[in-house]
Amino acid sequence: MRKDENLIYQNLQKIANKMDGTLISTSFTGDFSKLLWECKKGHRWEQTPAHIKRGDWCPHCRVQERRQKNKLLAKRKHYTPLFNGKKFELFVFDINNLVKRMEEVFNGSGHRKISPLKDIKKKYFNDDKNQLIIFCASKHLEYCKEEIPDSDTVLWYIEEKYKEIKENQYVDVDCPVVAEAVYFIRTYESQISKFYLGGQDIDLNFAVKEAKKKKIPTTLIAVSNLGLSRTLSEMVDKTEILYELKSVR
Ligand SMILES: [Zn+2]
Repeated sequence: MRKDENLIYQNLQKIANKMDGTLISTSFTGDFSKLLWECKKGHRWEQTPAHIKRGDWCPHCRVQERRQKNKLLAKRKHYTPLFNGKKFELFVFDINNLVKRMEEVFNGSGHRKISPLKDIKKKYFNDDKNQLIIFCASKHLEYCKEEIPDSDTVLWYIEEKYKEIKENQYVDVDCPVVAEAVYFIRTYESQISKFYLGGQDIDLNFAVKEAKKKKIPTTLIAVSNLGLSRTLSEMVDKTEILYELKSVR
């Protein structure tokens, strides 16, 4: 190679290195004759230095990325005509939180399987209304599902992991509760007529914040006043208590 050609060749090598790839061809014969290149994934292709300098890189990776992107879009589209674009009420429940509070309220009732879902169903769910209902619960509370099983408009998220299985310490579900709520609020903000959050811990506040940001009326569904986060209660438009206690010792 001539001295000037050698300089250009080195420059092309630098570009390839920057892309974590390699210039395979060992000589340079002009800007418009194709050289062989390899990307970091090991794809090889031929391209002119002129194109590479302009910013072109691996065509195989480009196709893969486009496919991946289309897949993601298709996945999202799968949700789109929810209730045919009509308004709906969104419910998201932290079952762990509600059951824990119920156990406190109905203390001494033995080890029967406790669940607020029968009462929630009676009070809130209505087949004539458009309602999307999401439940998050740890594995040991999966029995609550019997009352309201999965369907087109009822989604259960069951957390199967334990922190410490010997001590029966399950992983909390407040994170999935917030993640699910925020996802649906952001995706369907113009369709959601009301947002109901079932739970009474401050950890859930981000879901309320998101609904408020989108000006969606928000109702908190709490088991009782016991352990009800005042901050959370003050953030929502309305707090509804499932079990008003006449006598709390
Ligand atoms: Zn590639």
